[in-house]
Amino acid sequence: KKIRVGVASCGVAAGADAVLELLRSRSESVPVEGTGCLGHCYAEPMVEVVLDGGDSVFYRNVKAENGYIDNILSLGEKDRFEIPPARKAKELIKVLALAGRIDPTRFEDYVENGGYDGLKRALSMTPAEVVNEVKLSGLRGRGGGGFPTGTKWSFLAAKDTPEKILICNADEGDPGAFMDRSLMESVPHQVLEGMLIAAYATGATKLFIYCRAEYPMAIKHLKIAIAQIQEHKLNVIAGRELEIIIKEGAGAFVCGEETALIASLEGQRGTPRFRPPFPTDRGWQGHPSMINNVETFGNVPLILREGAAAFASIGTEGSKGTKLFALAGDLKNPGLVEVPMGTTLREIVFDIGGADPEKVKAVQTGGPSGGCIPVELFDTPVDYDSLKKLGAIMGSGGMIVIGKDRCMVETARYFLDFTHRESCGKCTFCRVGTTRMFETLERIVAGKGEMADLEFLEDIGPKIRMGSLCGLGQTAPNPVLATLRYYRHEYEAHVKDHQ
Ligand code: SF4
Repeated sequence: KKIRVGVASCGVAAGADAVLELLRSRSESVPVEGTGCLGHCYAEPMVEVVLDGGDSVFYRNVKAENGYIDNILSLGEKDRFEIPPARKAKELIKVLALAGRIDPTRFEDYVENGGYDGLKRALSMTPAEVVNEVKLSGLRGRGGGGFPTGTKWSFLAAKDTPEKILICNADEGDPGAFMDRSLMESVPHQVLEGMLIAAYATGATKLFIYCRAEYPMAIKHLKIAIAQIQEHKLNVIAGRELEIIIKEGAGAFVCGEETALIASLEGQRGTPRFRPPFPTDRGWQGHPSMINNVETFGNVPLILREGAAAFASIGTEGSKGTKLFALAGDLKNPGLVEVPMGTTLREIVFDIGGADPEKVKAVQTGGPSGGCIPVELFDTPVDYDSLKKLGAIMGSGGMIVIGKDRCMVETARYFLDFTHRESCGKCTFCRVGTTRMFETLERIVAGKGEMADLEFLEDIGPKIRMGSLCGLGQTAPNPVLATLRYYRHEYEAHVKDHQ
């Protein structure tokens, strides 16, 4: 028997640290361990009592008070909760299998649960075979772009040069998105194992993790894991000792863009650069460089451990495997979920998220660059291609549920407020265009808009898309154009009120 307390950032924010401390001081014979996140943010602080037979009893919203602790230690009925059966039925936990199950700071916990078996298998293959395995799995970049990962790896592997760079993009910046944070905090070794496998497959010599500084726990756990890797010499690959460096970002959303991220890593201002040359040709300090995001690397150990065929058996024709989503907004059970690609929005928002079908208007996917999808289209399967057809994007996995009483013009204004401030200013269309869009939305929301303003938004949106260098500008008009497409009447109501 043992007791687990989730002490990832979500748990700590709700007071889990104090719960862990009190439980430790009160539990005489049963070991109490701090783990990562199980994804049930609504139930934090959450305590799991693992019984001798392996079954678990969960307690939700626990307080660091003796009454709550007594109840848990005596396996009382108060505050017990079951993982909702609808959620259990729809989720498929693969990438997050160890999140909330192990102590993220203990190397042994990861290894005892299959950790580094993927690396072991990779090292028994040739680098080309590993690249091929990832290609066969059908894994696509989880950062939002959806580019086939194995193909990207083959570009770097093909470079015949002594110095090659591998970068993990951990600059998760979408409002409402916390998939990468949770994975790094809860199972840091899994991300690092994915990077080591990629380094072997591509011949990379230097490994960077570009992590936003607002993620102190993720950085702390990664640093501990890197030290453990070095202690066990797992960073010695094919006779070469690989350097693993963490670089903390300074809070610019645009630094999630590959070339801006590289510029920032080089110590320069983080602004995007023209492509070509592509990073795999000329990246960090001129060396061929490859960037994958946290979740992409987090998938790699599974592919090597279980085989490409097993991975490819999950998901849809064009989108394989599972996907993590951060559910937030107007719903009962916000949190982190993992579902097979192709699960519908309806299943995610209603069955898993517990949102009330009577009260939901739309869901925003893909953060500030995404689009709002109306409830009428919730039977859409969530995969890279289906969402694109609706004018939205999967993005990295943030999903914000919007209730019926929310104003869509205000929602669009919120996202434009974000993007116009985060524009790096390099391109006129992005710098000035997003600002004009924001000002126009401000005017409409304030009841001072005119019909001509709607036409202006529809006219300038595509121009910003076309005239912008990077993804930030190219996708910034999405929330406005998508809400204008599906909720034009709300815009018109604001304008008519004025006239
Ligand atoms: Fe900067 Fe915007 Fe141009 Fe991207 S599109 S380079 S964020 S100005």
